[in-house]
Amino acid sequence: MERLKFLEQEVATLKAENRFIEPHVLQSAQDAVCVIDGKEVINLTSNNYLCLTTHPKVKAAAINATEKYGIGTAAVRTIIGTTAMHGELEQKLAEFKGTEAALVIQSGFTSNTATCQSLMTSPEDALISDELNHASIIDGGRLSKAKKKIYRHSDMAHLKEILESEEVKKARRKLLVTDGVFSMDGDIAPLPEIVDLCEKHGVIVMVDDAHASGVIGPEGRGTVAHFGLKGRVDIQIGTLSKAFATIGGYVAGTKALKEYMQSVARPFLFSSSHPPSVVGTCLAGLDVLYNEPQLLKKLWDNSKFFKEELKKAGFDIGNSQTPITPVMVGDTIKAKKFSKMLFEEGVFALEIAFPTVPMGKERLRTIVTAGHEIKDLEKAAAAFKKCGKALGII
Ligand SMILES: *Cc1c(COP(=O)(O)O)cnc(C)c1O
Repeated sequence: MERLKFLEQEVATLKAENRFIEPHVLQSAQDAVCVIDGKEVINLTSNNYLCLTTHPKVKAAAINATEKYGIGTAAVRTIIGTTAMHGELEQKLAEFKGTEAALVIQSGFTSNTATCQSLMTSPEDALISDELNHASIIDGGRLSKAKKKIYRHSDMAHLKEILESEEVKKARRKLLVTDGVFSMDGDIAPLPEIVDLCEKHGVIVMVDDAHASGVIGPEGRGTVAHFGLKGRVDIQIGTLSKAFATIGGYVAGTKALKEYMQSVARPFLFSSSHPPSVVGTCLAGLDVLYNEPQLLKKLWDNSKFFKEELKKAGFDIGNSQTPITPVMVGDTIKAKKFSKMLFEEGVFALEIAFPTVPMGKERLRTIVTAGHEIKDLEKAAAAFKKCGKALGII
């Protein structure tokens, strides 16, 4: 294929710049301990916070939904892709988030692009975004017609300055978007301050709780519940692909938001609906979250334990307030080597390098789950210590 030859050069450049990515291959269920590339390892990489991937009730729900409704709907939601279960899930997600309504969309990624694109339709609009927001919010901004205003990470003085600027003041619609929990550092957005400022300036607040739903706040309801801000955040985005361990996203807010989005949001209109098994899985996941509070407790106990072990060993673990724990390395090649050595020791933790994080902030990112046992975490911490010492990180 002569006309695609330029891609060989592009791949070579990626390799030379350490940006080439090849997926690892999972050969077992995705669990706290699993088989990857032929080796059994303690898994510290997934967003499977509550370990629902293998929960018997959730697996049974997927099978039951398939038996009743079949494997798919072969249609978009607006044609014949909305089963009774989709409606039930949307109602339960609205209750979960304390909102009037919710709309399920194909993924967390498309929930963000769909919302930004559907609401911000004119160059007279202003989309105000934290500099560390997720790629899907950045792409949502690109798909919207609004002017973009980026504030320094969680910097409220900078945000205030932007909100008070003439350009933003005279904008037609104003939308502030922030991650609830930032996925690389595990810190929580200063939502109470953001909400105060936005209320003062008539700005719509949208929080992306991908890493917070099923993880933080009472019953894992997310950052809005965590901060007691019910009724003061206009739009909440969630994923069904992290703590809920399957796939999908949702937009929670007013009834009119849902009605508007289901008539105009392009991913919702032009991409097919979730299979019944996925919807059944999510409904069962919510039941498990409410009925087995010990999972949430174990998640937090485990993350506290693992953070303390790493800190005791002398690692720089940043300022995380959540189960996401970065282990700072500060160099791409060293971070890759660290990950490889840990794998040899039976621990799976991957490096995060530039451009996902700034140069000098290269790290391994770890996430423990409710599925880990203390003995797994002790073994993992011992491996971190051994390899970290060998590489001169500690
Ligand atoms: C993972 C993530 C998404 C994307 O969610 P998917 O359901 O995997 O598409 C969106 N926003 C944030 C902040 C995320 O961390």
